[in-house]
Amino acid sequence: MKFSEYAYQRPDVDQLKVEFKALLEAFKNASSATEQSEILAKYYQLDDSASAMQNICYVRHSIDTTDKFYEEEVEFFNTRYPELSEVSTDFYKALLASPFRAELEAEYGKHLFVLADLTTKVFEPAILDGIIAENKLDTEYRKIKAQAKIDFEGKTYNLSTIEPLEVSADRNMRKKASEAKWAYYAQRAAEVEAIYDKLVKTRTESAQKLGFENFIPLGYARMRRSDYDAQMVANFREQIVKHIVPITQKLYKSQAARLGLDSLKYYDEGYKFKSGNPTPKGNGVWMEAQAKQMYSELSKETEFFFNYMSDGGLMDLESKDGKETGGYCTFIGGDYQSPFIFSNFNGTSHDVTVLTHEAGHAFQCFETSRQTKINDYLWPTYEACEIHSMSMEFLTWPWMNLFFQEDTEKFFYEHLAGALRFLPYGCAVDEFQHIVYENPNMTTTERNAAWSAIEKKYLPHRDYDGNEFLENGGFWQKQGHIFSSPFYYIDYVLAQICAFQFWIRAKENKEEAWKDYVHLCRLGGKFSFLDLVKEANLESPFDAGCIEKIVAPIAAYLDGIDDSKF
Ligand code: ZN
Repeated sequence: MKFSEYAYQRPDVDQLKVEFKALLEAFKNASSATEQSEILAKYYQLDDSASAMQNICYVRHSIDTTDKFYEEEVEFFNTRYPELSEVSTDFYKALLASPFRAELEAEYGKHLFVLADLTTKVFEPAILDGIIAENKLDTEYRKIKAQAKIDFEGKTYNLSTIEPLEVSADRNMRKKASEAKWAYYAQRAAEVEAIYDKLVKTRTESAQKLGFENFIPLGYARMRRSDYDAQMVANFREQIVKHIVPITQKLYKSQAARLGLDSLKYYDEGYKFKSGNPTPKGNGVWMEAQAKQMYSELSKETEFFFNYMSDGGLMDLESKDGKETGGYCTFIGGDYQSPFIFSNFNGTSHDVTVLTHEAGHAFQCFETSRQTKINDYLWPTYEACEIHSMSMEFLTWPWMNLFFQEDTEKFFYEHLAGALRFLPYGCAVDEFQHIVYENPNMTTTERNAAWSAIEKKYLPHRDYDGNEFLENGGFWQKQGHIFSSPFYYIDYVLAQICAFQFWIRAKENKEEAWKDYVHLCRLGGKFSFLDLVKEANLESPFDAGCIEKIVAPIAAYLDGIDDSKF
C-alpha cells in the first residue's frame, strides 16, 4: 500500500477518553502481571492507532499548507488532542503504582518506569490551556515561514527556493538574495517576537503551576532527559568554546583565503568554494535512484528498508510552494507501521545529507518498530535519535561518489567542516534558551541583545556588514526549534560528538562500526541516552577530555586536504 492510499479519519476524542479510562480501570484492578501486561499492550495499540491519524494529518498538511482540509485537522489535533494528556498521565501514574512493577520491569526494562515518572511530572490538567496555546503559537510561526513570498529580481521565492541564490558564485547576488530573505524576517519580526514572548510566558506559567522554579527543568523533563542536567550541558558548552571554536575560526579563515576575500561577511559563509559548492549531479528522481543503489550495497537491512520506503511512496523530497520548510522523519503507526521522510530538495549538497540523515531516523524507527510493542520505546530521546541520523550521514560516505562524482572530495571536506562549524552555533541556540527561560520577563530588545552577545562568544567571526536586523540580534528568529521544541537544539551537538566517533570507527573497522550502529538502532528508546551511548560502544560527550580527543582526528583529516584546490 502506498502512503497516498493511507486512510485518514479524525479520531473521536470523547470515545478515546472512554476507552482509555476503561483500560485504566482494568489495569488498576488487574490481579496479575500477565493481566496488566495484556492491558498495557491494548493501551499502546489504541494510542498507536490514534497517533497514526495525527501523523498522517501532519504529514499531508506539511506537504501542502494551503490544503484547507488538513489545516482544519491540524487545528483539531492542536486543540482537542491535548485533552488526552490527562488520561495518559493517569495511566503512567497507575503504572508507577503497580504492585507487579518488578515483573513488568523484568519484561519491559526499567526505563519504561523512568519515562513514566518523567511523563507524570510534565502534565497536570491545570496546564492544558497552556499546551493548547503553545501549539497554536507554534502553528502561527510555522505559517509565517511556510507562506513566505520573497520578491527578488522579478521572481517570487520561498525560504527554501531562495537558498541557491544565497550561495551564488556572484558575491553581489548572494548579498542581495540574503538581504531579501532577511528583509522578509525583519518585516515579520514584530509578529515573530510577539509569538515567542507569548510562548516563553505560557511555558513559564505552566512550569510554575507544576511546581518548577522556571521552564528549564520542565523543558528537560519534557525532553525525557533522565541522566544529565543543565549544569552538565553548561560544562559541555564550555568544552565546545575551548576546543571547537578555535578550529572553526581557522576554517573560516581558510574559506576566506580560498575565495580570495579579505574577510567573510555573513552572506559569504554559505559560499564555500570558488568553483561552486559540491552539488548532486542530477534531480530528485535521480538522487532517489542513487540512494536505492547505495542502500542495497550498504547492508541487507538497509536494502530491505529503502525498497520499502521507495515502493510505499513514503518520501516527499522535492521543494514545492506552500510546503513547510526543512526536513523531518516521522512514524505512522496503527495499521501502517511505516516511517515517512519529508524534505525540500533544492539542488544543493544539503539534499543528499538531508536524505541520508532522515533515512537514518527512518531506518531506526523501522527497525525498532519491528522489535517492540512499547510505543515509548519507538524513539529514544532526541540526542540519541540524532546519533542514528548523523552517523548514517557518515556511514554512507563510501557511496557519496554516486551523487557527487568529481565533487566527492570537496563534499567530504565540506561535510566534516560543516559538522564542526555547526557545534558552536548549536551551543549558541542552547545557551540563548537557557538565558531566555531563566529571565522570562526580558523585553524583546533584551532578548535580541542576549543573542548578539552569545554570537560573539560562539561565532566571533560573524560579520553582518551593516544589516540592521541581524546586527540587532534577529538571527535566532529563523531557528524553528527555538519556538517549537525548547532545549532540543543541543541534542544535535551531543549527537554530532557521537556521530564523529562512528566516522572514526568506520575508518578503523567498518563491519564492527556497522554492527554497533544497527544494534543501537534496534534498541530504540529502551535505555536512557548515556546507556545507549555505552551500548553502542561510544564515549559519553560529557566525559572530561572526550571532545578534545574526538575532534583531533577530524581536524587532522581536514588539515590533510589541500582545500585551496577546490
Ligand atoms: Zn534529525
